Amino acid sequence: MAHAADLIRRKRDGEELQSSDLRELVLAYARGEVPDYQMAAFCMAVYFRALSSAETFALTEAMIASGETIDLHRALDRTVVDKHSTGGVGDKTSLAVGPIVAACGVPFAKMSGRGLGHTGGTLDKLESIPGFRIELSVDEFITQVREVGLAIIGQTADLVPADKLLYGLRDVTATVDNVSLIASSIMSKKIAAGADAIVLDVKVGDGAFMKTLEDARALAEAMLELGRRAGRRVVCVLTDMDQPLGQAVGNALEIHEALATLRGRGPADFTELVLGATAHLLALSDLGVGEEEARDLALHTVQDGSALATYERWIRAQGGDPAEDALPVAPEKRSVHAPSGGYVTRLGAISIGTAALRLGAGRRTKDDSVDHAVGVCCLKKRGDVVDAGDVLAEIHARTRAAADSVANDVLAAYTIGAEPPNTRPIVLETIE
Ligand code: URA
Repeated sequence: MAHAADLIRRKRDGEELQSSDLRELVLAYARGEVPDYQMAAFCMAVYFRALSSAETFALTEAMIASGETIDLHRALDRTVVDKHSTGGVGDKTSLAVGPIVAACGVPFAKMSGRGLGHTGGTLDKLESIPGFRIELSVDEFITQVREVGLAIIGQTADLVPADKLLYGLRDVTATVDNVSLIASSIMSKKIAAGADAIVLDVKVGDGAFMKTLEDARALAEAMLELGRRAGRRVVCVLTDMDQPLGQAVGNALEIHEALATLRGRGPADFTELVLGATAHLLALSDLGVGEEEARDLALHTVQDGSALATYERWIRAQGGDPAEDALPVAPEKRSVHAPSGGYVTRLGAISIGTAALRLGAGRRTKDDSVDHAVGVCCLKKRGDVVDAGDVLAEIHARTRAAADSVANDVLAAYTIGAEPPNTRPIVLETIE
């Protein structure tokens, strides 16, 4: 591409670029005609100079145009819904939301990613189910959504290939944490994957990309704007990630927790997030219901067992064994006890996520393998009252030595104080 250096210079100097320039740059990069060093310089210029809303949309459109797109609406003649989370610790929301939404009669189609670092990925959790296939062709994906009402698969290589390249580059050039680049990366994949209505769960806090509500709001607004411009209906929930979501952190452990929630016996914070996200999705769908009615419908599918039955049908459709006792179990279990009584005033999400990672539940690099059985269950959460000696958390490990090696870190994730902490709801804000 002749003028990549010129575009880098103009962005470096704070100019607003034309949509056609951004499109040409991104498509040339995806074709291998712009080298990584120029694209890295461009991302750094964006990092310091930012993109306008028009530029962010142009970047998103260009990324979408770098590969195939799926038109689920046309294929199914229905409003298809999807959800996305910006990633956190213990986030198994899609595993419960998908079956409930589908049990309410609304098609749910999602392409997910793998976990990296202290955050888990939905695909890794699903792969703890023996036999589960995350790789379906686009035709199989559409057929399954039509017949079962629900599919969650890995992103196909043909969808938004520019993001795959760009994200890898940003990861090693300190240019990930820019609102426009994150928003266009997430929304290009969501828009290309074809759902009409999307709930975006932007995590806020210690264990999230966005550490403050202000930053989370900026990201939410940028993604909403991209959704609007692309003609999709989008709702953003900003949710707490200062402590892990629910109790379970670790792949198979999180499947157990999602199943408990589908049976109406999930942890309060997780259940609240699942029902809230489901209500938004149903209200955005073609069911013609408002949020309140949607929430009642969702609760009903949990109470009458249809959400659980939908889960089982879905897992079988993707080749998996839905029996809970088929999930892998870690050979060693070690409890972590409260050294004193009081209130749990803090439970650090990053510390628990990192302990689970060290046990083998996550990957440090893209090529690491994952131990699906291991993880940490945080039985006590912020605001709980504990007596000295109570079990705060359980470590599920491959060996006794592995369990012992993270026990102090799990304990250090907890702060116990004499006064109750300020309560913080799981859903901090909703932006539409
Ligand atoms: N997740 C994505 O898919 N892209 C980003 O840039 C950040 C998080």
